[in-house]
Amino acid sequence: MPPGTGWPGDQADDTTPVATTAAGVRRVAAAAVRTGGADGLAALDAAATVCRACPRLVAWREEVAVTKRASYADEPYFGRPLAGMGPLDARIVVVGLAPAAQGGNRTGRIFTGDRSADWLHAALHRAGLATQATSLHAGDGQQLLHTRMTMGVRCAPPANKPTPAERDTCAPWMTAELRLMPDVRVVVTLGSFGWDVALRTLRDLGHVVPTPKPRFGHAAEALLPVPRAGAGRPDVLLLGCFHPSQQNTFTGRLTEPMLDAVLTRAREAADL
Ligand code: SF4
Repeated sequence: MPPGTGWPGDQADDTTPVATTAAGVRRVAAAAVRTGGADGLAALDAAATVCRACPRLVAWREEVAVTKRASYADEPYFGRPLAGMGPLDARIVVVGLAPAAQGGNRTGRIFTGDRSADWLHAALHRAGLATQATSLHAGDGQQLLHTRMTMGVRCAPPANKPTPAERDTCAPWMTAELRLMPDVRVVVTLGSFGWDVALRTLRDLGHVVPTPKPRFGHAAEALLPVPRAGAGRPDVLLLGCFHPSQQNTFTGRLTEPMLDAVLTRAREAADL
């Protein structure tokens, strides 16, 4: 699906720069930061959704969008990287791993159109952090409140496993996204991949990461302060949460009360 075609999740147009290398990602993301504010975030979102810097992931996301799952055979697939979702002044950021091949890669919006999305958005709604309890498609009117969702890798990876090189190539998008957001106080990470990506991102933004590195676990917490000399950003509380994958929710490894408890803690730590 080329940019500027009116796709609900499409924020790019023909003038949006297309990053084709890791250096290109860094350059385009840095330009969005220099723009700053809402315009900078809009530029970042648009540029991220046309990125082609990881050949393996570009091929996979586009192949999935053509072959399709049989139950979605009549639907168009987005088949591109995803933007984050939620307001610039969010105090809470939820970090996932990467889009699901048949979820976000199909619908064009993060955590939209699959069982994991059902779980997460229902919990966000219960916590007062989303206007609706469902996230079905990019035009469903869902809005996040005080919260933005983003991901460590923006293209759907085969077997949900990006390589370390793909993770590192994609990292500047999220670093720039958080740099543009001045009010983030809590980062909720869904799974250990998101935890590690968030630690790297926050360290890049000047937060102090304790040694030894805090370990991921459900309800794990780590306070990542900013040195007073570099104030201008609040300290951030990192919160771990098991990923609402079907594997975790079907087996009871993650229950609704467990998810609710993490989001309640996030609200409290964000002074909401
Ligand atoms: S994973 Fe990230 S860096 Fe790689 S192509 Fe997708 S958006 Fe670009």
